[in-house]
Amino acid sequence: MADILLIEDDVTIRTALTRGLRERGHAVSSSPTALDGLRLAVQDRPDLIVLDLGLPDLDGKELLRMLRAVSQVPVIVATARDGDAAMVPVLDAGADDYVVKPYTAAQLDARIRAVLRRTSSPQAAALEVGGLVVDPRARTATLDGSALDLTPREFDVLHYLAARPGEVVTRRELLTEVWQVPYGGADKTVDVHLSWLRRKLGETASSPRYLHTVRGVGVKLVDPS
Ligand code: CA
Repeated sequence: MADILLIEDDVTIRTALTRGLRERGHAVSSSPTALDGLRLAVQDRPDLIVLDLGLPDLDGKELLRMLRAVSQVPVIVATARDGDAAMVPVLDAGADDYVVKPYTAAQLDARIRAVLRRTSSPQAAALEVGGLVVDPRARTATLDGSALDLTPREFDVLHYLAARPGEVVTRRELLTEVWQVPYGGADKTVDVHLSWLRRKLGETASSPRYLHTVRGVGVKLVDPS
């Protein structure tokens, strides 16, 4: 089961697919327009997006490019147009797969599961930095074998840093990549979450072990051993 965002202007299709995917255990939100869909994609961070190419306000391909500028969320494009000539540019623009109309919820569900299997496996490996283990599949983190009680956001920050051990990550980068705020956002938000995370790791800013502040730049996660 996954959080699916369906961007589709046809109310009949939208209603039928929402029902069909929910029956198959997915959580489904939907939008009838490209721009509202983009807003939901950034705000709700779904696991996968099903995108109709023929939308009233914006070409689906254009939306896909805008989406790819801010997110790597898997996208399945739904189209009435068939054939390689029509689909190649769409796949080049960053779609992970496509379905041709008319299609059933069962067919779409099979595609969704295949895409999620394919896209989640490489980054789903547990990360280890010293005694810290971050498991993105289970969304759990342990330090020296003890589970850390993290909020979803703290987990995302820790996972992002653990994927880049020893690398300085700026607050801006965290706001863009973890908070998914493409511009704006407050550095203070990041600092507050880092200080909570630091406390849960059992360390302080003045005597860090894993989480090191690089003054005026950002933060890095290092193996203390
Ligand atoms: Ca349409």
